[in-house]
Amino acid sequence: MNKTIQVTRPSMPVFDEYLNEIKDIWDSGWLTNAGVKHNRLEEKLQQYLKTPNVSLFSNGHLALECAIEAFQLTGEVITTPFTFASTTHAIVRKGLTPIFADINLEDYTIQTDNLERLITDKTSAIIPVHVYGNVCNVNEIERIAKKYNLKVIYDAAHAFGVTVDGRGVANFGDASMFSFHATKVFHTIEGGALTYKDRSIENRINMAKNFGITGPESIEYAGGNAKMNEFQAAMGLCNLRHIDQEIEKRKEVHERYIENLSELEGIRLPFVKKGIVSNYAYFPVLFDSNKVSRDQIHDELKKHNIYSRKYFYPLTNNINCYKSKFSPNHTPVAQQISERILTLPIYAGIQLETVERICNIIKNQLNSLNSTVSIGDVYL
Ligand SMILES: *Cc1c(COP(=O)(O)O)cnc(C)c1O
Repeated sequence: MNKTIQVTRPSMPVFDEYLNEIKDIWDSGWLTNAGVKHNRLEEKLQQYLKTPNVSLFSNGHLALECAIEAFQLTGEVITTPFTFASTTHAIVRKGLTPIFADINLEDYTIQTDNLERLITDKTSAIIPVHVYGNVCNVNEIERIAKKYNLKVIYDAAHAFGVTVDGRGVANFGDASMFSFHATKVFHTIEGGALTYKDRSIENRINMAKNFGITGPESIEYAGGNAKMNEFQAAMGLCNLRHIDQEIEKRKEVHERYIENLSELEGIRLPFVKKGIVSNYAYFPVLFDSNKVSRDQIHDELKKHNIYSRKYFYPLTNNINCYKSKFSPNHTPVAQQISERILTLPIYAGIQLETVERICNIIKNQLNSLNSTVSIGDVYL
């Protein structure tokens, strides 16, 4: 049996590099609360993300909750259901109501054509998702936000290092949240960051992640705790040294998938738009359900010990805990996509031969179904 292939695998620095990086933590005895490594990582990320304001967090989810808190959002927030539960959870956990917009067929980001119809006098913000690292229609979102005086906080968990015509993706909207979870392109084991446009929000962000503390004897309000510690920052400093090579390797994997799968009928592959530098975070494949079901391919790969992911299925407006509250019926495109999409294994260390093997399994499956089964049978 071939060894198990997971959908992703965290990139790690060599052991000695990390050891070396954490050594001085023993000398300083400073483990958390804006330590030397934390501050150094913030500076390096300002450069890498090409953005002036970066604030580190213990994880991406709490960064998003803290952004909602810092901007003092109220009432309704427009977002999409084609995302990780975190995006919707953050809105709900802050006592707000998510209003679900549908997504584009082409890139799975928020559809802007009908967005204005979802705005009410209760709407305070839009939280769009750069899903799979695909950049949202940032210009149109900015126009709408200005017109209705809404805040825009991007869930940029997937978009680390992505640029648009040379501009870092972190510069759009009022703020962006990045996740540095182990499974993401760049990681600090667990971790995350907020980037933000207006310096005046800095204080509120700091309060939100550190108990509302503003000085040794002053606590302004009941803030939470979401600080990044020195061991996380040390992992980030190591990983950041190798990030360009990591992304380059992902690009090779992406291109190998494209080479092998582009001739096939009945599937749609991801593409990188003009002007975008991608981070190749995911390789989502959309199956034409008239030809083959996504679940068949998923199960066939699993038989070969290869784990693809139905990412994102179910939609967040259709997960158990929200079933009585929300409905996927208002987001038909998202619903259709979520039933047909599969993300294939992609990470820097995956062997190109493994990619070939995955492609062959998909090819064989598609060919055998196209030749032996009629469309009606596939449905049954
Ligand atoms: C990973 C992820 C998050 C949450 O980030 P954590 O660092 O795991 O808390 C939020 N949104 C999306 C789209 C994600 O993929």
